[in-house]
Amino acid sequence: MKLRLLPSTIDGAGLVSERQHFACFVIDGCVAFDAGSLASSVNEQERENIRDVVLTHAHLDHIAGLPLFIDDLFQTLTEPVRVHAERSVIDALEEHIFNWSIYPRFSELKNRFGSVVEYHEFEQGKQFDVRHLTVRAVAVNHKVPSSGFLISDTSGTIAITGDTAEMNEFWNEVNRVEKLSGLFIECALPNELHELASVSHHLTAEKLAHELTKFERDDSPIYVINIKPAHREAVVSQIGLLGVKGIEILEAGRTYQF
Ligand SMILES: [Zn+2]
Repeated sequence: MKLRLLPSTIDGAGLVSERQHFACFVIDGCVAFDAGSLASSVNEQERENIRDVVLTHAHLDHIAGLPLFIDDLFQTLTEPVRVHAERSVIDALEEHIFNWSIYPRFSELKNRFGSVVEYHEFEQGKQFDVRHLTVRAVAVNHKVPSSGFLISDTSGTIAITGDTAEMNEFWNEVNRVEKLSGLFIECALPNELHELASVSHHLTAEKLAHELTKFERDDSPIYVINIKPAHREAVVSQIGLLGVKGIEILEAGRTYQF
């Protein structure tokens, strides 16, 4: 399984910035998990091949690229973009984004080949197939209904938390996986903003360390994701001080093979 966190921005030299403003993970060049920078940062091959988008939750940094991605492809789509999401997330998209005020309601439109978007509702705790992947949605602990995912192919499983604060169910599921190839866990804020982390349901480095005490395995690398760009330096330094074995910060733009 190949995974690439799409870049969010470029730096002053025109190169991929390490700062992550958006969440969008492309797996095997054809399935996107979240859609923050989907329209702006896919390469041409990914734009042609991605027709499935799986959403953790409806916050803007996770869905911002979806309307523009569908718009870019509107004339040429020979099959709809399939948006896999929980019912409450689908309802939020239709009410707040695809409402003709912010953007067209693509679910009511067709091109010459047919529908351009199709919603596929999933339930937390249940498994579903997306292309060659088997996905299990697990409830996590965020300000709005949110899912983490266990994503499997024939070679193994990776686990992505999405945005979350302290969790239990997610760890129960992750600890049961037969072959875990990678854990991707958020750490949005630095320790000094622990109160903000509590009200916004995110992790700090200290809270991350506490969460990892529930991670009962040592067979998997740990990649930190979703660090708020304004606090990146502080969070990275605080994670370094934790001394956790096998932990690193996921690099935007790089393809990881599992
Ligand atoms: Zn969020």
